[in-house]
Amino acid sequence: MDFNDDYVMTIDGKAVVGAATIDVVNPATGEPFAVAPDCSKEQLDEAVAAARTAFDGWRRTPIAERQAMVAKAADLLAAHADELARLFTREQGRPVDGARQEIEGAAVWMKAVAQMEPPVHVSEDSDAQFIETRYVPLGVVCAIAPWNFPVNLAMWKVAPALVAGNTMVLKPSPFTPLCTLKIGQLFDEVFPAGVFNVVSGGDGLGPMMTAHPGFAKISFTGSTATGKRVMESAARDLKRLTLELGGNDASIVLPDVDLDAVAQTIFMAAFYNTAQICVATKRLYVHEDVYDGLRDRLAAIAAAVKVGDGAEQGTVLGPIQNRRQYDRVMALLEDARAGGLTLIQGAAVPEGAGYFVPVTIVDNPPEDSRVVQEEAFGPILPMLKFSDVDDVIARANASEYGLGGAVWSADTDKAVAVARRLDTGTVWVNQFINLRPDTPFAGRKNSGFGVENGMEGLLEYMAPQAVYVAK
Ligand code: NAD
Repeated sequence: MDFNDDYVMTIDGKAVVGAATIDVVNPATGEPFAVAPDCSKEQLDEAVAAARTAFDGWRRTPIAERQAMVAKAADLLAAHADELARLFTREQGRPVDGARQEIEGAAVWMKAVAQMEPPVHVSEDSDAQFIETRYVPLGVVCAIAPWNFPVNLAMWKVAPALVAGNTMVLKPSPFTPLCTLKIGQLFDEVFPAGVFNVVSGGDGLGPMMTAHPGFAKISFTGSTATGKRVMESAARDLKRLTLELGGNDASIVLPDVDLDAVAQTIFMAAFYNTAQICVATKRLYVHEDVYDGLRDRLAAIAAAVKVGDGAEQGTVLGPIQNRRQYDRVMALLEDARAGGLTLIQGAAVPEGAGYFVPVTIVDNPPEDSRVVQEEAFGPILPMLKFSDVDDVIARANASEYGLGGAVWSADTDKAVAVARRLDTGTVWVNQFINLRPDTPFAGRKNSGFGVENGMEGLLEYMAPQAVYVAK
């Protein structure tokens, strides 16, 4: 496939130009550098119709063949990791090494999912009757992805949905459509026409999709506010739903921790991908005995870290991905400054039109400040002191979110005991953001609805069918 600057949608096995176009901006420069198709209502109808037509053949394709095609698509993704990584950096902002890791990681993920198979349960096999429950696909899946991990989070949906026997229309974020559009073309070499469609467009396209009656299920990753709108829209046709939404993860650092051993990892847990990770550490609770020591170590790392254009050698943290998010992060920073909070800022950031924000640690702000209560999704980390474990667990859990969290301690048992008391779907002990395709990932409260990954994640793309046979 040609990695030129022409970006097309994939609809019914054909390359389709948009009815109109949207600009795609490089966040390191603030300048548009490409245009992506803006899908019209008619084009969306064509994509959904193609996916519905393809569904019958695809669901009857033996699962081993579907798995083999998903694995082959993963190989193609990995084979084009270099070209995709360069494009990823231009549209998303992350340094090229991290971009390549995401693409290669997505390929590994798909291959693992391609080995999964839904169970068959036999509840009775007697002289009187035979009863079995098997899992069947749902129909056409509407997949909507965000801009922070645009390839990975899309492939988390593509692989299980297609292995399960569904067909799909995938929409990337308007801020990061390009890699996904190229992947649509790449995968078109593997899947029958209509099985995997990719459309792109502006802010109007997501609501148009969630309201479309042709979809059986919506799998959405994005913000909590949008997730609630998606759920409302899905209610009209009782579409099945998976929502992976925002988080405000707490990390709890117990007093026995070896600060030199953990400081760098905690820094990255908070700031990797310029803190634009749903499960980043967004509130750092540190025991008062080690608070100053950790704060000073994190401040030293922040002072040395290179923030800049991800295409430049040595850059560790890129820009904020888009102008809208940059404005939101700057407003939060301004609010913290206006409230008289103590800000410790890291290395200077490039001047100019790029969306750069210096790494910022907020030194022990009040629990009710916006910077603690809201998901920043940018490099502003509130550090908070605690002295009592029960109290810090209560503070960690007093959040509208319940996505992830972490506990740091030299005593693993003690840390695990604290971890189990956090009201979140995932908790890490002395590590961060280690996720696996065979392990369920699910947010509680305002962080989500449903599950991705693991057998539970695969079954979200299927419905049980119980068959009762009289003998
Ligand atoms: P967003 O909600 O603005 O957009 C996500 C996607 O939804 C985009 O493709 C967008 O075009 C589309 N969209 C926007 N309005 C829509 C509507 N009314 N109906 C249907 N689709 C619509 O989110 P974002 O800013 O791209 O992503 C950042 C957020 O995503 C953060 O809150 C982050 O925590 C969350 N996130 C969650 C996870 C997770 O797995 N839980 C992973 C990554 C990001």
